[in-house]
Amino acid sequence: MADPRSVSQPPIVRVYRGAQQADANAAFRSDAVELAKYGYVPTTQSWAQGQWGCGAFLVALLLCILLIGFLVFIFMLVVKPDGTLTVTNEFQGVAAVTKICPRCAETIKKEAKVCRFCGNEFQWTPTHRVPDGGLAAWAAPNPSLPPIVTLDAGLGLIVAERAGDWGRVEADNGWTGWVDARLLIAKS
Ligand SMILES: [Zn+2]
Repeated sequence: MADPRSVSQPPIVRVYRGAQQADANAAFRSDAVELAKYGYVPTTQSWAQGQWGCGAFLVALLLCILLIGFLVFIFMLVVKPDGTLTVTNEFQGVAAVTKICPRCAETIKKEAKVCRFCGNEFQWTPTHRVPDGGLAAWAAPNPSLPPIVTLDAGLGLIVAERAGDWGRVEADNGWTGWVDARLLIAKS
């Protein structure tokens, strides 16, 4: 065998891997001791930080999206979004709980018979009258009970309340009772 120093030997290129350069250096040094026995000495070295491939990045990105999606899914299972309460309000007209005094123009309660501002007395104006032949009246809208009175024909009444065909009427003297509102005759 020829003397290695007199013959041109091709360089030996070794590659060492390591997460850090220090890790690779440790392997390189132990190798260098071995190679020195054969007359090789290191002349150049270069360290290149490892790079993730494009595919690895895409896989990581996909896993990331899957993980985020999974977390969002768990979040959606656990946390409910705010509920919505939907309320529909229909205009029913303004409830006539007040009236305007025709004398002083102040707003007063609908049931008031005397204006609390000017003392104006309100005329009781019936809206209906009892038909010819009179009209039976009940204390409550219950036909199984006997009527309490028969109202005189032509008596003026105000219908204060409705319950189906029943109507609670009020008379001028403050009397109130229930009648068959279908039989009442409306005053024009
Ligand atoms: Zn008044």
